[in-house]
Amino acid sequence: MKALAAQDPAVYGAIVSEFRRQQDELELIASENYVSEAVMQAMGTWLTNKYAEGLPRRRYYGGCDFVDITEGLARDRAKQLFGCVGANVQPHSGAQANAAVYLAVCQPGDTILGLDLTHGGHLTHGSPVNSSGMLYKAVHYTVHGETGYIDMDRLRELALEHRPRIIVSGASAYPRIIDFEGFRSIADEVGAIHMADIAHIAGMVVTGLHPSPVPHCQFVTTTTHKTLRGPRGGLIMADRQWAKAMNKAVFPGTQGGPLEHVIAAKAVAFGEALRPDFKTYCEKILANAQAMAETLLSRGFDLVSGGTDNHLMLVDLGETCSGKDAEDALGRAAITVNKNTVPGEKRSPFVASGIRIGTPAMTTRGLGVEESVQVANWIADAITSRDDEDALEAIGRQVRDMCKQFPVYPEELVD
Ligand SMILES: *Cc1c(COP(=O)(O)O)cnc(C)c1O
Repeated sequence: MKALAAQDPAVYGAIVSEFRRQQDELELIASENYVSEAVMQAMGTWLTNKYAEGLPRRRYYGGCDFVDITEGLARDRAKQLFGCVGANVQPHSGAQANAAVYLAVCQPGDTILGLDLTHGGHLTHGSPVNSSGMLYKAVHYTVHGETGYIDMDRLRELALEHRPRIIVSGASAYPRIIDFEGFRSIADEVGAIHMADIAHIAGMVVTGLHPSPVPHCQFVTTTTHKTLRGPRGGLIMADRQWAKAMNKAVFPGTQGGPLEHVIAAKAVAFGEALRPDFKTYCEKILANAQAMAETLLSRGFDLVSGGTDNHLMLVDLGETCSGKDAEDALGRAAITVNKNTVPGEKRSPFVASGIRIGTPAMTTRGLGVEESVQVANWIADAITSRDDEDALEAIGRQVRDMCKQFPVYPEELVD
């Protein structure tokens, strides 16, 4: 990065500091991951210079021969990876992917039925502060108050009552297996389209560690940067009937020129996810999550739904400690998590009563079950000692020591 360092020390300095933070501290935000050097290299290329509106071999600009190759590879590999009929690799993000599907399916004012935000849903599933909740009429299903599992009976009641145009399955903070087949049968019963948003669990889906929504959906959307471990971006899949509408809704419906440098990196990441060792990686994510969940439970913490089937868990801290205080304390101990609302939340979302913990990033840097147990114990210690600066500092030192043993990237990369 010599040119950048010489030309713009302010930007360069901040980038190097972020590199240090990622190397030296423990990342447990469930939606984050570390891309490979190959993915990173594809992103930082001349492809960023290219306008390529349209689809491969059907572009509105000349000079697209080579971005047609990279985008074609990304699309073909996405189809192979997910076993879907249509794939559009152009959405700039998960939110853009969802906006495009709504545009393809809904008229303004139509009803969207999605999981409530405080129960683990995403802003783009009909929150009033997101376009999905402004342009469309949003209705929300919830998780069961007692079990923490999605309340499929209530979902069906709401579907029958509100007759939504689209039912959205998928979540940002839900630790259990999602019954996509059950969603489809309710959607079919009320004549709704079923879209699954697998932004979080895509890695598990492509490795068979979570049932695939593809056979049970008209649309599947995902991000490419969470468990899938690719560059920051989105992806839409559609069945045969909806493939054309999907493409039109992305461009010209909601986007202009695609980010071909990111699309090339998506191709690289999909190539990685097609390899057998990606399944081994995802199995380790789950084993680490199990180990952390069991340790936290044994330390007396309460987990929403009592545990996890996937890469994340939600710790319900109850009355004694807020999510914000826990997030702050863990931050001082070099552990990054995010505060999260819990079902039946009583605090404001800026304070919240829970934290969300995920294992994809720590698993990428090579931490295993033994380290997961240790990390969970540090989390428990840090939350318990949240007012004791010395204790937090001592935990932080041990966390940084462990991180040093498991570097994410070679140090030479920032030289
Ligand atoms: C992360 C996430 C998104 C949004 O992805 P962005 O790339 O941040 O726009 C959408 N849906 C779900 C379920 C998510 O978890």
